[in-house]
Amino acid sequence: MRKPLIAGNWKMNGSLELLETMKQALTSAQVSSSVEVAIIPPFTLLMSAGRTLSDSAIRLGAQTLHPEPSGAFTGEVSASMLTECGVSHVLAGHSERRTLFGEDDQAVLARVTAALDAGMTPILCVGETLEEREADRVETVVLGQVKTVIDALSASQRSRLVIAYEPVWAIGTGRTATPEQAQQVHAMIRSWLSDKDPALGEGMRLLYGGSMKADNAAELLSQPDIDGGLIGGASLKPDDFIAICHAAG
Ligand code: PEP
Repeated sequence: MRKPLIAGNWKMNGSLELLETMKQALTSAQVSSSVEVAIIPPFTLLMSAGRTLSDSAIRLGAQTLHPEPSGAFTGEVSASMLTECGVSHVLAGHSERRTLFGEDDQAVLARVTAALDAGMTPILCVGETLEEREADRVETVVLGQVKTVIDALSASQRSRLVIAYEPVWAIGTGRTATPEQAQQVHAMIRSWLSDKDPALGEGMRLLYGGSMKADNAAELLSQPDIDGGLIGGASLKPDDFIAICHAAG
């Protein structure tokens, strides 16, 4: 049985005030304990968030990390710095990192490995652009991104990974993949994982991300191979985020 995960990626948004409001709203909403909930605020909020959330079941995530443990990497943050803040989850390969910051599959793999070595749960983000979808390249692109990481990890490392399928054309655009489109890609990823190792396919949590909102979450989350959501815009609005969390329970 895969425990659904709803993770809110705040991107370069949010404040101490939103952190407090979100924590209080999530706590009083009494989201089912069968759902794992994580918020992923920007670096500047992580230390406070670790303290604020320490008496709750809400997990704390980071949006990226640098693969090296320390050194002359101005502006970067290492895995151990994140764990010191109480971070348990970290995104790797979000499409904004891939396109705006030039992270290729090898850079993503290095980040996944650093996160695993530090005991964190990496959320590996994969997904095709509109151009790639229209050129019938979804399978090649998405499985290529998955394969680079999975093939480089040991069996025990793989079992600690979460994968988020985020079609790039649906991120922040208001254009959501239909439940059928999303399910099709999720089933394809799971089938590839199962061919490699049946237990891996059965156990891997596959999240959908891309304009998931309060009014479309239930249908997306009811698909057999969708085990949760990575939420951008709607994760900044406590009522909407809570509605999505409830839809997962
Ligand atoms: C995201 O950034 O991962 C995302 C899914 O954003 P949005 O929900 O705003 O499309």
